[in-house]
Amino acid sequence: MDTYRHRGQRRQLIDELRATGRFSEKVLKVMGIIPRHAFLESGFHGWAYRDEAFPIDCDQTISQPSTVAWQSTELQVLPRQHVLEIGTGSGYQAAVLSVLGGRVFTVERHAPLYKKAKLTLKKLRLDHIRCFLRDGNKGLPEFAPFDRIMATAGAESVPEKLKEQLKVGGIMIIPVGPEGKEQRLLKIVRTSKDNWTEEDLGSCQFVPFAQGLVK
Ligand code: SAH
Repeated sequence: MDTYRHRGQRRQLIDELRATGRFSEKVLKVMGIIPRHAFLESGFHGWAYRDEAFPIDCDQTISQPSTVAWQSTELQVLPRQHVLEIGTGSGYQAAVLSVLGGRVFTVERHAPLYKKAKLTLKKLRLDHIRCFLRDGNKGLPEFAPFDRIMATAGAESVPEKLKEQLKVGGIMIIPVGPEGKEQRLLKIVRTSKDNWTEEDLGSCQFVPFAQGLVK
């Protein structure tokens, strides 16, 4: 349930994020609507509106709100665009992308997380978000190409299949870096059939982009 207290804490978090001047107003407005606590275990409900990452199942984390705001701002989702997210986790980022107007396809490799996120999104009446239990390295070929792709796990290098599944003119935001070393958030734009540009947006920290499924 979204209580008066949750709403107050959420408003305060959004005000703090807004004060940094780094994030789009559209994204902040959406994050002001979505109850982040609904994506966390009840033990974390009191903390859900701090700008912190928290553990979810399978040794993974829900991203920090400022990271969600950063990635979502850079992705520049427009209404009805087809958006692929790699790393459903709790489902929170997928919810943000959906309320921004995207047609969201989200992929997770851990079965328990996939199941739980699907349930959470259903409870919030966001069950038009399509969830898949897949290895994100392969993307989602049957629904490609995508206008936007966002990875919420740090890859060693940009998976080729994801580059191929990006529309010409499309944008991908993905953390990249060797395991255990610093990751950089990259913005990749497909400028033509055979060309992609790459922009380094800055340092970041994500759980690893892994291989294969975990049932
Ligand atoms: N977007 C999530 C953040 C989850 S953390 C949220 O809003 O809560 C990153 C997620 O990426 C983890 O759940 C992890 O299991 C998943 N992941 C890592 N490698 C993956 C892969 N190859 N395919 C699909 N999901 C992957």
